[in-house]
Amino acid sequence: MLRRVLGRDLPVVSHGRGALLYDRDGNEYLDAAGGAIVVNVGHGDESVVAAMAAQARRVAFAHGTQFTSDALEAYASDVATVLPLDDAHIYPVSGGSEAIETALKIARAFHLARGDAARHRVVARAGSYHGNTLAALDASGRPALRAPYEPWLGRTHHVPAAYEYRCPLPSHPADCGRRHAELLDETFRALGPETVACFVAEPVVGAALGAVTPPPGYWPAVAEVCRDHGVLLVADEVMTGFGRTGEWFACDHWGVRPDVLVAAKGAASGYWPFGFAACSGHVFRALERGGFTHGFTYSHSVVGAAVAHAVLRRLRDDGLVAAAGARGARLRAGLSDALDGHPWVGDVRGTGLLVAVELVVRPADKTPFPRSERVTERVLARAARRGLLVYPSTGGADGRDGDVLLFGPPFVITDEQVDDVCARTRAALDDVAAGAD
Ligand code: PLP
Repeated sequence: MLRRVLGRDLPVVSHGRGALLYDRDGNEYLDAAGGAIVVNVGHGDESVVAAMAAQARRVAFAHGTQFTSDALEAYASDVATVLPLDDAHIYPVSGGSEAIETALKIARAFHLARGDAARHRVVARAGSYHGNTLAALDASGRPALRAPYEPWLGRTHHVPAAYEYRCPLPSHPADCGRRHAELLDETFRALGPETVACFVAEPVVGAALGAVTPPPGYWPAVAEVCRDHGVLLVADEVMTGFGRTGEWFACDHWGVRPDVLVAAKGAASGYWPFGFAACSGHVFRALERGGFTHGFTYSHSVVGAAVAHAVLRRLRDDGLVAAAGARGARLRAGLSDALDGHPWVGDVRGTGLLVAVELVVRPADKTPFPRSERVTERVLARAARRGLLVYPSTGGADGRDGDVLLFGPPFVITDEQVDDVCARTRAALDDVAAGAD
């Protein structure tokens, strides 16, 4: 097998329950990463497993050009009630990268349907991640991931990240949100607004920078700039969607209603490869008129819809979105306390249960560690030896250096487990600071 990780032995997973995973050797891991910030409802959820099995028993596959299904139709209308879109319509696919590709094509098809054939450009941000397929990678602002494939990339235009801890604006901290919106406006004007199809961004940045929440005023001002120029706003909520930030979607924190929204990860909580691009009613009606040339063998999965619907019910019926907000506040406060005085801790930040710790050589001047020291990787390895799983985020400081520990546990994590995450993180950091590999 060509494993996801080359050159390192991996433990063999055995089973999972709630916020815990076990390997075949009987070791227990507190999953503070939810895999890759995926398993929102927790491991081993019987209601999701039962829905998956029941649907697969009835019918597992029916092609999207030949059939729709009760499972798909019921999910589409139910999920529309929680999406921050007017009259939402979803296009289900197998994951985040496919969903981003779908969203970009929806934007293009929308403009074509309206006779705006010149609108093809995509504008995105530095310090972002939108996926590993080629258009999604081109939208992403992560130099290390792009580097091997640069000859195939280069169509997307990037504006600066809204990264308050390392804000490059001369006027910082005054009015950063509005200033970023002005920069976006200037970029649209320089490109020719009549050529720009969409602006794609994560409402709260996930793994590229580590739980970076934009400054106040940023999202409403950015949405207005997009609207003024007829540019579709695509919100990438692959990591932040379905309760992760303590609201159903991160856009909800600012009352922002995008034209297209992309979800995956938490939508099916890891139980099925599932995601979707959703568009608002006015976009949908243009696609109905002009057509939409697209599709995958595994899009519109009937089992995927049944699983995602069970996840949606679990989040809604058991108040898990509010739980994410409460546990997230505890985690952030607990990490701040536990790491207080540690010489490497530059910033503890986040929204809801998407929380990050940025590590620097000296907090006073925010100098990042050289990437060659692999600080994040060493802390993660020590944490795993202490039975704690944390997600890495590297390269965010300047495109190469930068070390961030990212936390995104299942929403069913208990208060005691949250406290345990904080204590074990401190211990792992102390191990590495003392020279352990
Ligand atoms: N967008 C964001 C914000 C992500 O965090 C990710 C994955 O980490 C993706 C898109 C790509 O999703 P996938 O890995 O399911 O293709």
